[in-house]
Amino acid sequence: MSQKYDVIIVGGGIVGCMAARELAPDHDVLVVERDQIGGGATGKASGLVTVVEEYSDTPAAAAHAIEFFREYDGTGHFSFHERSYVELRSDEHDVASLRDHAATLRENGFDAAFHTPDELENRFPDTFELDGHAGGIVYEDAGWLDPYTFVTTVKEDAERDGATFLTGVEVDDLAVEDGSIVGVDTEADERIRAEQVVVAAGWRTRQFVSEHVSIPTRPYRYQTYNLDHERTLTEEFPMAWDEHSHLYFRAEPNGELHIGGGTYFVKPPGTPRSTTTEGFQRLIAGTIPELITNLGEAQFVAGDTCRFGDSATPDRYPIIDAPAEAPEGLAVATGTHGFGIMAAPVIGTAIRMVVTDEDGPFSVDEFSLDRFEDRSTDFGSSYIAESPELVGPQS
Ligand SMILES: Cc1cc2nc3c(=O)[nH]c(=O)nc-3n(C[C@H](O)[C@H](O)[C@H](O)COP(=O)(O)OP(=O)(O)OC[C@H]3O[C@@H](n4cnc5c(N)ncnc54)[C@H](O)[C@@H]3O)c2cc1C
Repeated sequence: MSQKYDVIIVGGGIVGCMAARELAPDHDVLVVERDQIGGGATGKASGLVTVVEEYSDTPAAAAHAIEFFREYDGTGHFSFHERSYVELRSDEHDVASLRDHAATLRENGFDAAFHTPDELENRFPDTFELDGHAGGIVYEDAGWLDPYTFVTTVKEDAERDGATFLTGVEVDDLAVEDGSIVGVDTEADERIRAEQVVVAAGWRTRQFVSEHVSIPTRPYRYQTYNLDHERTLTEEFPMAWDEHSHLYFRAEPNGELHIGGGTYFVKPPGTPRSTTTEGFQRLIAGTIPELITNLGEAQFVAGDTCRFGDSATPDRYPIIDAPAEAPEGLAVATGTHGFGIMAAPVIGTAIRMVVTDEDGPFSVDEFSLDRFEDRSTDFGSSYIAESPELVGPQS
């Protein structure tokens, strides 16, 4: 390939595609994907958009994301289905501190309120059995989307603005001369030249750039299951997350209940796995029928997991940076920590800010690599299990 690009993006998940969409209007962009677009964690995601809660420390970024989804609704094949989201908190919290938290969210411009179990019953009649819960924070800036439709719509936007997508081609290495990026080398020994390279290779990013820069990310898996059941789930049925089990759920358009969680770290070097663990099934069976009323007879259908995983960071925020110690022209975008779909508008805009050195609607400081002095992968996460019971024998 003799053409020289302004920017090559390694990875065609939602992060790489959003980066392409943001950069394509005024850059020559090439996305190189080893598999197919959305074939990694992106295509397996549940599509929950609860970004306000997850990014509540960065209100400007959270607002940017939810505004994006509301405006993007109806673009191409993409739909954003607004739904209330309830964070069901355990009774280890006192009600006053949960009310304070909701008040802070409102001060930051978000539509959120704490509800006691009785108040939740009024708001969502016959929905929850809340033994062991203090109540729930109800977020209105939330919804769900189909991740595959989302990523393909974003890709088509980028293509319309001139971006090129190369699929089924693995990038072997970065091409570096005199301390600066000059492009990438593919598995076919082809050098593709570019001024800048963005590595958006999901959990593989750490390994991919390890010769040049150290990134504290760990691969981990999410698992999902759909439940067939007897209850009719209307549009009033909220999405929710349960603090006790760390399971989340939402209604599918076909009436099934989509349940996710059962997260666990993948043991290095990372083996592919396509089946859910028995421990995850047991967790659902021991939680959901007691938490949601009137499901009646329920059966597991369509269990799924991402073959390799998503990437966790020590503080759950992504790493989007052109690190000072890396070759000139190299940027990384990884560590999406289970929020890569909902945070995609933030991540895409942040990548543009990093690549072009422009200001944007929020600060990218929270996403810089140098917030971590310790770059090791020796960290845990309260959201990711390490329990052998959940993980099963072959993680
Ligand atoms: C079951 C499940 C449920 C989830 N639910 C949600 C949810 O409800 N809401 C939410 O916001 N997030 C959710 N997530 C997380 C979300 O899916 C991820 O955070 C997000 O998709 C990560 O996007 P990515 O582009 O970084 O990674 P990926 O989608 O994994 O993309 C990385 C791409 O890089 C490619 N690649 C890697 N190495 C190379 C190479 N050397 N050369 C070329 N290409 C390469 C890979 O093939 C892959 O396609 C969920 C994840 C899972 C697995």
